[in-house]
Amino acid sequence: MSTQDADGLDVAAIREDFPILEREFNGNDLVYLDNAATSQTPDQVVDEIARYYREYNANVHRGLHQLSQEASIAYEDAHDTVAEFVGASGGREEIVFTKNTTESMNVVASSWGLSELGPGDEVVLTEMEHHAALVTWQQVCKKTGAECKFIRTTDDGQLDMDHARELIGEDTKMVSAVHVSNTLGCINPVGELADLAHDHDAYVFVDGAQAAPNRPVDVEAIDADFYAFSGHKMCGPTGVGVLYGKQHLLEAMEPYLYGGMMIRKVTFEDSTWNDLPWKFEAGTPPICEGIALGYAINYLEDLGMENVRRHEERLAAYAYDRLTEMDDVDVYGPSPEQGRTGLVSFNLGDVHAHDLSSILNDYAVAIRAGDHCTQPLHDELGVAASARASFYVYNTEEEVDKLVEAIEGARELFA
Ligand code: PLP
Repeated sequence: MSTQDADGLDVAAIREDFPILEREFNGNDLVYLDNAATSQTPDQVVDEIARYYREYNANVHRGLHQLSQEASIAYEDAHDTVAEFVGASGGREEIVFTKNTTESMNVVASSWGLSELGPGDEVVLTEMEHHAALVTWQQVCKKTGAECKFIRTTDDGQLDMDHARELIGEDTKMVSAVHVSNTLGCINPVGELADLAHDHDAYVFVDGAQAAPNRPVDVEAIDADFYAFSGHKMCGPTGVGVLYGKQHLLEAMEPYLYGGMMIRKVTFEDSTWNDLPWKFEAGTPPICEGIALGYAINYLEDLGMENVRRHEERLAAYAYDRLTEMDDVDVYGPSPEQGRTGLVSFNLGDVHAHDLSSILNDYAVAIRAGDHCTQPLHDELGVAASARASFYVYNTEEEVDKLVEAIEGARELFA
């Protein structure tokens, strides 16, 4: 009998798909709250990975033998699954498999940025960008003479859209913005940013690493020119990421990596390029990982992305409420009413987040501690580091309560 909760998820049944959650440390059940870093992988996906290696492991596109044909079809079909998942009507031509979000960012910053940017041009980012975007555009701007500008964060941890309207102008060539902040948990109005960018003939790159796993994404409704995310944060394996790009933009861009598979014709003098998306997938691609990402998406779609979104928002709201009840806990980012999902970053008094995380580990509560690859944002917040609890489809309110109990235990220890 299904025991769906108010979000539409049967969390007890979901947890059975993730045997890793049965692990215990120090006599405590594992409470895995580090999902924004990497989510766990359900048996359905692990089984498909094993089936790939047991039954049809082969290189793709090259072989005429049966195994290669089976692997090629599954790998190519996985691109279609991703295209449908994000609403890319151009299909597989608009979906490049990369190593991760970081590589997707580098593909565009190098292939598009190095040839299109120059002195006087501006790339507009947000202060809450992950280093994947921030460092990449910063370095491409250094090479090209373009300038990075940063949209401010409001005091309550949201994107300052008035400042966005001031910054995005005639000199803007690219707006690169995170969809859901991996530190503040806020949901940025990326559709509005895309409109602003397009009004000034600029492009928009959306970092969806924390959004694609936990809410329905429609790249065409956003009107994103580029959109990126990673398989390992959404029930898939490590080693595969996605770059969505509008077909005409990907067609106009130079390849990022050169080598086999991405070519059509090679002579000693010159080469021509393969069709999309293979033009951007040089060498042996992440075959098994890409296929497994397709199965991870099937898994999430069976749960229903609207249900996943509701669940993530409810858990984030519950954690926010429980943590803000504690006088000596500082929580960063907007309130649930203002819009927050998936995660809560915080500090306990002046206890260093690393110390807190290590005490929480004694309670088998796994969280993240550090700057979460947003050092400049932490500078703005006036802290070197923070602790971050992040949730996924298998987490429960009881686990948030265990987090709070563990924080209370840590407080006693540091008192
Ligand atoms: N962007 C955001 C918002 C993230 O949270 C992360 C990972 O934490 C990344 C980019 C980078 O993802 P990956 O390490 O998979 O490239």
